[in-house]
Amino acid sequence: MFDRKSGFNALLDEVQIPPERWSKAPRQVSIALTNLCDLHCSYCYAPKHRAALEADVLGGWLTELDAAGCLGVGFGGGEPTLHPAFAEICRSAARDTELAITFTTHGHRLVPRLLEQLCGSVHFIRISVDGVGRTYERLRGRPFHDLVARLHDARQLAPLGINVVINANTIDELDAVAALAMEVGASELLLLPQQATHSVGAADAAVTRKLKSWLDNAKPDVSLAISEAGAQGMPTCDPLPKEKGLMSYVHIDASGHVRPSSYALEGVAIDKAGAIAAIDRLRAVTGDAN
Ligand code: SF4
Repeated sequence: MFDRKSGFNALLDEVQIPPERWSKAPRQVSIALTNLCDLHCSYCYAPKHRAALEADVLGGWLTELDAAGCLGVGFGGGEPTLHPAFAEICRSAARDTELAITFTTHGHRLVPRLLEQLCGSVHFIRISVDGVGRTYERLRGRPFHDLVARLHDARQLAPLGINVVINANTIDELDAVAALAMEVGASELLLLPQQATHSVGAADAAVTRKLKSWLDNAKPDVSLAISEAGAQGMPTCDPLPKEKGLMSYVHIDASGHVRPSSYALEGVAIDKAGAIAAIDRLRAVTGDAN
């Protein structure tokens, strides 16, 4: 059971479903609407070539994923709000499917006009907050007080999660980021240990040690989550132990390829046969047929 408005979900494991009736779609799909972004974070891993998905083609994939048992999609990028049809994509996805609609954004474009257009079409928003005050401004190149205003406005639209990239710049500001999350009424603080890109390395051992120590000692009044990539043995949620790999999640990039994750190098183009056929081909190519 899954309710996209409240996020309530329950697994009824007393009922055994034969494998041939299991959903063909992954439970969650992340979709990069565009590679475009108006910020220039050094640790950004989004591809830099120009690419964006066409709204009507995407609408077909979403309908297909929904019918095949997918529960939710998370739009990202690049910066998803820079896609010229962003609000319409969210509106039609909410109207034409049962999918939970979420998106991840730097937050600075969540002005009242866009929030109004998104009203009723979005079930959760993730906003990236890497450090506070001057650290944030140095890393993201935008005024921190603007971000705080956007966070308060966005919370009026939908439940909010705060994402923080964990690196040597941000690790000592986790208390302040957690306090901000509580101040704006965020329901989750997602910790993202920095991954290596062409210009920065992954979070090093000292950062990881500090993060583990913070997790042992901090007791913020907000739910904590951590990405599997970089978790380094820290506990991650495994709600459905038999649902592995490409059964639980795939990423669709802005060029229309399905990939095991946004970091993965291998991918399969979605052609006229549709998204599920491409996911099946990716499962065959990667040997991930579970
Ligand atoms: S806001 Fe996100 S997509 Fe844009 S440059 Fe920064 S990390 Fe990359």
